[in-house]
Amino acid sequence: MPETPRNRTAARLQPFTSTIFAEMTALAVSHDAINLGQGFPDSDGPVSMLDTARQAIADGLNQYPPGPGMPVLRQAVAADRLTRYGLDHDPDSEVLITVGATEAISAAILGLVEPGEEVVLIEPYYDSYAASVALAGAVRRSVPLARSGTEFVVDLDALRAAITPKTKMLVVNTPHNPTGTVFTREEIGAIAEIACEHDLLVLTDEVYEHLVFDGRTHTPLATLPGMYERTVSVSSAAKTFSVTGWKIGWACGPAELVTAVRTAKQYLSFVGGGPFQPAIAHALTYEQQWVKGLRNRLQAKRDVLYDALAGAGFDVLTGGGTYYLCADITAIGEHDGIDFCRTLPERIGVASVPVSVFTDQSQPWNTLVRFAFCKQDHVLEEAGRRLRTLGAS
Ligand code: PMP
Ligand code: GLN
Repeated sequence: MPETPRNRTAARLQPFTSTIFAEMTALAVSHDAINLGQGFPDSDGPVSMLDTARQAIADGLNQYPPGPGMPVLRQAVAADRLTRYGLDHDPDSEVLITVGATEAISAAILGLVEPGEEVVLIEPYYDSYAASVALAGAVRRSVPLARSGTEFVVDLDALRAAITPKTKMLVVNTPHNPTGTVFTREEIGAIAEIACEHDLLVLTDEVYEHLVFDGRTHTPLATLPGMYERTVSVSSAAKTFSVTGWKIGWACGPAELVTAVRTAKQYLSFVGGGPFQPAIAHALTYEQQWVKGLRNRLQAKRDVLYDALAGAGFDVLTGGGTYYLCADITAIGEHDGIDFCRTLPERIGVASVPVSVFTDQSQPWNTLVRFAFCKQDHVLEEAGRRLRTLGAS
């Protein structure tokens, strides 16, 4: 039998041959559908940031930046984290600029976890975590979030039960993709206690750190007692400044952990995004007001999408942060989220993402669907109009 491209792929990567985002965006394009699947905004970030990037190209900043990232950006990341969280990072040894949060996540797992050691994920989990664990030859254990009314909560007993003597790292993501859950201070505190008790490393993905609604607050894990020394904190410019295509991220933590991340990172990409780095440094320093405006605009968009989904008959979950709302399709007579998302672009011209692709267990996730609301108001309104026709299609 001739070998297909799939079976030439290394066995540990075969479950990951395509991403749901690529699949759903391709479906959206082929049906000219509104893409509420892949989470990317359809309007630009702050003008002064865009101008700074253009100027950097004009000024000839077009060659390799330094391996750990340009000093101006490392300093801006450190200053921002000191101002907002009171975390005091040495910009030279405790801040690493990466090719998006995605590279920071892969490099942290590759640099810190031995093959065969266990990494605990909280499911649903962002798709790159499982692939990064597989790249490292490590073993994934996943613990489901628990549903409580219209919200999700961390199942602390299940988390404790998932930890074994082989567990090396716990991966936490708050505000959480895909559910939009913002972990409470109590939940973060309990996770920190578990990490300290079992002497675990923690990788915390906080790319939506600014996007929290209704007066909620984001608690960075590294600020809790006993956590700084065991935590790699990852964030990115993508969601904060609406530049998902620039791929500028960062990993922060104690020097010995950041050294491990840098060791892996330098053989993944070496460096990236030269002219974008001073632009993000500029934005972190001068455009915090713009970010506050973005958060307020997104909260209003969340409300528009919530009303549209509820109006179409979905059982919508509370979304406290991020770009996303999740809705249960059982209420509209559907039972298979993957099938629903694959057919929705053709049926009504709207793309979404099934939550079960972010989980190891299909139950109870296979009736949940994620919709992104980081779109212009008229786009969301048209999507709402189309969703309301579902009953008739
Ligand atoms: N983590 C989460 C939870 C995400 O939603 C995303 C997508 N923005 C990433 C990581 C990847 O971020 P980046 O685009 O900066 O690589
Ligand atoms: N983070 C975005 C999402 O969750 C996009 C991810 C991607 O395209 N890889 O939709």
